[in-house]
Amino acid sequence: MSQAGEQGTLFVISAPSGAGKTSLVSEMLRQDSRLGVSVSHTTRPMREGEQNGVNYHFVSRDEFEAMIARGDFLEHADVFGNYYGTSQVWVRETLATGQDVILEIDWQGAEQVRRLIPECVSIFIVPPSAEALRQRLVGRGTDAPDVVERRLAEAEEECRHAAEFDYLVVNDDFSVALADLLAIARSHRLTMGVQQVRHASLLSGLSGRS
Ligand code: 5GP
Repeated sequence: MSQAGEQGTLFVISAPSGAGKTSLVSEMLRQDSRLGVSVSHTTRPMREGEQNGVNYHFVSRDEFEAMIARGDFLEHADVFGNYYGTSQVWVRETLATGQDVILEIDWQGAEQVRRLIPECVSIFIVPPSAEALRQRLVGRGTDAPDVVERRLAEAEEECRHAAEFDYLVVNDDFSVALADLLAIARSHRLTMGVQQVRHASLLSGLSGRS
């Protein structure tokens, strides 16, 4: 149960594609019930295996632009030619219930969120080497070389922003990277600012002020 006034923490997680971010986040959600993830809106076409409302809310460019005009987004960005955005209302309402929220967004979105919610905790995930990144992006080898090169260039652009984040997690061994991410969430919840709100009555009782 959340105490009155307790706000959840906003975790912003970015990574170059191929770093394993989505698998790590879904395992974090499974193991830590205090975490929830925001489902973004996007104009990119749905990929095989994806579900509307689960992976993304898939909308047209017109709908997306109408949402921008209404101020529906906490942040939004053009990522590789498609729009992506985070619902303002969902994030603010969920944080207000005391639940922690993860945003899986790119560096441009992370920059906007840091400005709006400076107390957010931002985490950048990288693969263990440039070669591992190349291997993961080449994947099954079915993509044309120019597609692979474009993805690599995009990944390098994302990585140029790593130093703007509070934490860096290297995904060499999945279980170690997962433990690192869960440790960041857990240790953040133990910081005095967060604990003072969560345990306000305990602290005032212990200090004879209740
Ligand atoms: P994909 O199309 O492969 O799912 O995601 C492409 C990129 O868009 C990833 O870097 C992902 O983190 C980013 N992205 C997904 N949702 C959002 C969002 O709501 N806002 C922003 N700024 N980036 C997003």
